[in-house]
Amino acid sequence: MTSLPILPPAMLGILGGGQLGSMFTLAAKTMGYRVTVLDPDPNAPAARFADIHLCAPYDDATALTQLSQCAAVTTEFENVNAQAMKDLAQHTRVSPSGECVAVAQNRILEKARITQAGLATAPYRAMTSSDDINDDCISLLPGILKTATLGYDGKGQIRVQTLADVQAAFAQLNQVPCVLEKQVDLRAEISVIVCRLNAENSLTFDPAENHHENGILAYSIVPARLPENVCQQARQMALRLAEELDYVGVLAVEMFVVGDEQQLIVNEIAPRPHNSGHHTIDACSSSQFQQQVRIMCGLPPADTRLLTPCCMANILGDLWGNAGEEPRWQTVQNTTNAHLHLYGKLVARKGRKMGHFTVLADQADKAFSQAKNLHQQLSFE
Ligand code: ADP
Ligand code: MG
Repeated sequence: MTSLPILPPAMLGILGGGQLGSMFTLAAKTMGYRVTVLDPDPNAPAARFADIHLCAPYDDATALTQLSQCAAVTTEFENVNAQAMKDLAQHTRVSPSGECVAVAQNRILEKARITQAGLATAPYRAMTSSDDINDDCISLLPGILKTATLGYDGKGQIRVQTLADVQAAFAQLNQVPCVLEKQVDLRAEISVIVCRLNAENSLTFDPAENHHENGILAYSIVPARLPENVCQQARQMALRLAEELDYVGVLAVEMFVVGDEQQLIVNEIAPRPHNSGHHTIDACSSSQFQQQVRIMCGLPPADTRLLTPCCMANILGDLWGNAGEEPRWQTVQNTTNAHLHLYGKLVARKGRKMGHFTVLADQADKAFSQAKNLHQQLSFE
């Protein structure tokens, strides 16, 4: 395989055609590439823009063979079969690597790598059988028991106060491998998106300050309202972790700001663009999706500068009426400093990410309050 950059109009492939795949496809098409998307959903958002939609299961041999003929392949989600990515890598350039995806899929591996990189996590223990529930766990209480794999948006985790709670929670999670994590004194949640081609070509976007509602990201404010030295340290830590993983691609690193000292600990990583990086489309000199395209093509990441303070607000299916009535788009569409992005999903369900909008303002605080205001006005009722 050559290390020469891949140039337009080469065909790029992506595993997954949800909103992340869709925004990737738009970026790639704008840059002159062609795109093949593999997604079993006939109405996958990315199918609106892709040149070829392989509508097949993710392990479909014929579809994977077609994908392997692309000049390079990437993924929009971590729960892809890491082995399929390793197989694809026999035939074409794949980024991120199957190894990195495998680490991000499993909290036990993930936390071990974070620690190996010399970075702090919440105190934790891997729990693989009920024998692991013993007095050694007491220092981790009150804590959170999280399944090692397949957790997202707060699913697959249970808060525990006592050893008996841990026992009950482990049973409730069907005794699958878990981590028990100490509950930390959270002051803020931030994320740093790293764009890395190699050691010499590695950049971060400004950290985003993330606010969740019901376990789902609701708002990302950029720049994060934290001291500059904390933001700088967050960027350094994210770069360190990417280096430890020898990561190629776009990597999102979620961190917690803990206690009065504002200590930074790493919570988890995503081997792909991230919901908290959607503002980069409207507010940065390059978007996280352009970076994904560039890096998979062997090009160095573009300038990541934040051009204006901003706030991204998620639009969930909850905003639709019971009979599918659309949210009231008018106010946000009439707001000239708000940018609406809808993903083209046909069915709105509670908690489903249907779109987002980004408000640009001269201060992060202002962008946040305007975004909350606009969000309130969207509700169908
Ligand atoms: P998910 O994969 O669902 O995003 P996370 O590990 O990010 O799982 O946990 C979801 C949320 O739970 C976090 O965004 C944070 O608000 C809270 N949380 C997770 N771990 C801890 C912890 N150790 N201490 C305090 N709060 C936590
Ligand atoms: Mg998380």
